[in-house]
Amino acid sequence: MMNTLHALLNQDEFLSRHIGPDEAERKAMLHAIGADSLEDLINQIVPEAIRSAEPLGLAAPMSEVDALAKLRALADQNEVRKSYIGMGYYPTHVPHVILRNVLENPGWYTAYTPYQPEIAQGRLEAILNFQQMTMDLTGLDLASASLLDEATAAAEAMALAKRMSKNKKSELFYVADDVFPQTLDVVKTRAEQLGLEVLVGPAKEAADHDIFGALLQYPNQLGSVEDYQTLAEAIHAKKALVCVASDLLALVKLQAPAQWGADVVFGSAQRFGVPMGYGGPHAAFFATRDAFKRSMPGRIIGVSKDTRGKPALRMAMQTREQHIRREKANSNICTAQVLLANMASFFAVYHGPEGLKRIAERTHRLTSILAAGLMQRGVATVNSSWFDTLTLQVSDRDAILARADAAGINLRTDLAETLGVSLDETTRPEDVALLWNVLLGEGHGLTVDAVDEMVDTILDPKLVRSTPILTHEVFNRHHSETEMMRYLRKLQGKDLALDHSMISLGSCTMKLNAAAEMIPVSWPEFANLHPFCPQEQAKGYRALVKTLSDYLLEITGYDALCMQPNSGAQGEYAGLVAIKKYQESIGQGHRDICLIPSSAHGTNPASAMLASLKVVVVASNRDGTVDMDDLRAKAEEHSERLSCIMVTYPSTHGVYEEQIGTICDLIHEHGGQVYMDGANMNAQVGITSPGLIGSDVSHLNLHKTFAIPHGGGGPGMGPIGVKAHLAPFMAGHAVVKTGDEHQNNGAVSAAQYGSASILPISWMYIVMLGARGLTESTQVAMLNANYLATELGKHYPILYTGRNDRIAHECIIDLRPIKEETGVTEMDVAKRLMDYGFHAPTMSFPVAGTLMIEPTESEAKGELDRFIHAMINIREEIAMVGRGEWPADNNPLCNAPHTLDDIVDPAFDSRPYGREQAAFPVAELRDNKFWPTVNRIDDVYGDRNLFCACVPMDAYQD
Ligand SMILES: *Cc1c(COP(=O)(O)O)cnc(C)c1O
Repeated sequence: MMNTLHALLNQDEFLSRHIGPDEAERKAMLHAIGADSLEDLINQIVPEAIRSAEPLGLAAPMSEVDALAKLRALADQNEVRKSYIGMGYYPTHVPHVILRNVLENPGWYTAYTPYQPEIAQGRLEAILNFQQMTMDLTGLDLASASLLDEATAAAEAMALAKRMSKNKKSELFYVADDVFPQTLDVVKTRAEQLGLEVLVGPAKEAADHDIFGALLQYPNQLGSVEDYQTLAEAIHAKKALVCVASDLLALVKLQAPAQWGADVVFGSAQRFGVPMGYGGPHAAFFATRDAFKRSMPGRIIGVSKDTRGKPALRMAMQTREQHIRREKANSNICTAQVLLANMASFFAVYHGPEGLKRIAERTHRLTSILAAGLMQRGVATVNSSWFDTLTLQVSDRDAILARADAAGINLRTDLAETLGVSLDETTRPEDVALLWNVLLGEGHGLTVDAVDEMVDTILDPKLVRSTPILTHEVFNRHHSETEMMRYLRKLQGKDLALDHSMISLGSCTMKLNAAAEMIPVSWPEFANLHPFCPQEQAKGYRALVKTLSDYLLEITGYDALCMQPNSGAQGEYAGLVAIKKYQESIGQGHRDICLIPSSAHGTNPASAMLASLKVVVVASNRDGTVDMDDLRAKAEEHSERLSCIMVTYPSTHGVYEEQIGTICDLIHEHGGQVYMDGANMNAQVGITSPGLIGSDVSHLNLHKTFAIPHGGGGPGMGPIGVKAHLAPFMAGHAVVKTGDEHQNNGAVSAAQYGSASILPISWMYIVMLGARGLTESTQVAMLNANYLATELGKHYPILYTGRNDRIAHECIIDLRPIKEETGVTEMDVAKRLMDYGFHAPTMSFPVAGTLMIEPTESEAKGELDRFIHAMINIREEIAMVGRGEWPADNNPLCNAPHTLDDIVDPAFDSRPYGREQAAFPVAELRDNKFWPTVNRIDDVYGDRNLFCACVPMDAYQD
């Protein structure tokens, strides 16, 4: 009886939904690759010496329903109060049409960074809208496709100013004392690492110093809107750059900062319809002058054209950034905040210029009404001008706070002797009346209507915007919900995401992002908390962070975890900072060499640069492993100055290095630390761990291994795990003091727990899979990868294999010999895969001319077979080109991808292959065809004719 019931209950397990292949499929695949069982396969792959002796000390798998109930209990410990705290985070109404069709829609959130632009035109258009919106509101020439948060954007602005200022000898960056404290915190951390000096003082004294740049905030943190024109001129006279932190909603009302001299304008786009989420994720916007375009950090979307001459979007000027320029890159940004940037741009599309002006005007007017009432009753504001924020000089602070507490509202309290109130899109007249009750006590006799009649404009007309905004058609035609829904659907339909087919991008771990994992992100208890709300209101979040940290410590074998970094690359930076601070603490602060194998991800050297480490490249062997002789020689040569090694494990070549233990020992013998890049944790979980192997610190990409979706290029979370000796040197935070130790270190993100509101996803993932499911996921990830390697290996050379000719969780197929023989390139194969309904694997990383394939555990055998079938067919097409049956310059490969425009083009008749061959090369496609919406895009044209704003509609008519 019990047994029967148990078997019935087990059917509810999430585990069998997350892992693609069922028992029968696993058996078939094991048979195909010649392994007896999953255990046998793992024994063949993973070196004995590093295998965990014990299973993970985590609970058993849990059903979706049970796990959601368990998480609900944590959510209920959060208390959502009305927040007037401001400080860069504001309540907003997420338009429901955007909530449902974007944030909660796998068509949007499961896409990857648009490296294959022909199947990403939808989100590329949305990001282009984001750039256009940023340019309109800041008044600058060029905007980027999003940065991680306002504070890191400030650090990037400082770095840009240092690169571009003509005052080359200055190392001094001036920060106005009225910028948000978390912004200053992150800027200081970065400056310290870069060896720059930060001077904090009154804004008006910025030009009194020999500086390369100054950071102003507009409106400043007290709420006031200052006229900075003269100051900006004085700063320019010093050959320094004017960097300005600003606010999108304020900029709807205020004059664009570029008009009074700003060179860089950045800030958070959160209040454009993205929930506060206890700190994130949100997009930061960043804009600068055209003259500084080569110095711009992060990604930029640009307009180019396809082979038919049609406008087509793609990432522009990629050679500036980490994956190409490595340690010479402008920034280490890889994963950014694309999903949130898209939400913000859709907010602008939906409301349009008039809607945004209404929201801004209302927010401003209610603030003015609030202020006028307070002044009538004798409460003075510290700021004499404002957009939405008042800083109040109060005599009875404690009584007010008691009334606020009773009324269930949060005010800004971190500045001594004053209280701050920031209004927002959601504020209603009743809220202003309630705020009077709280701030003045009952019986104040004010009514909103009466005060409204007396309110005068307080903004200097010179500071009020006179130029139109968002004049482009896209911001002026999707204002009904029907129109908006269809616009979102139209864009979604242009993009290939996980809801269509497998995305086998090596190193990116595109696994299932389960609905049960995603649902809690929208729960108000997670979505609507202000990151700086009183700690008692965030007990649920604290418990979530604590339990998730404990799980991750168990999985990684580390001693302490820092949940602050917003991406893998930020984790690298945070980890390197911890290493440097540790070494300083033991009198080894002179160590400044970072060894990085040649196969490393571009973020590794770029992050090392941010920590002022000198990168020394270590060679790889032909088999993809670290060249031990070279490593020994370089460690020896730089022994005195060796700070650390950054090593990815299993290697980016997709194999387990046998000698990883030796590598760790060697580095430690020379006094260095081991930074293990955790991007490949999907091959370790439950089987081995960085801590066990002997590493000192790693970041985890929660958006790879732990099921957070990629969002089309972000969000992500890159917490770092460290051994005990590094724990005292992990990031702290200027505003939120959690009571944990080590709080005096500088911050690396604006919010204490980074993008806290996506942590429930990884929490759900781990809780639902449990110890057994996590381990099984790793095993099946390796089974799927080896199955692909075995089957594809019959048709393409597999570049590297490890022990027993196996690979780990990803494999590289080498297209160079094929290219040599036939002229068909890896690019042709990548584009041709689109015709077969697939996103290409990772192209030319870590080795040029190759494709790196990572199927993950979530893909069932049927999907793998479909992919294999496509690749075999493509191999036959290549052979036809090789045999001269198709000309080298006119065949289905070099003409890929094929669009409907091709198919209906009468000129198609002159091609040496038919329409059927072009669009339906395998029968399955008849049932499920994905049509790329543009032909192959001309990258060179796009970079030569850089254009990063919305394309006028008539450009689309030919
Ligand atoms: C993805 C990746 C990174 C960078 O992570 P982001 O979150 O994109 O910053 C670093 N190293 C490796 C090996 C990766 O695959």
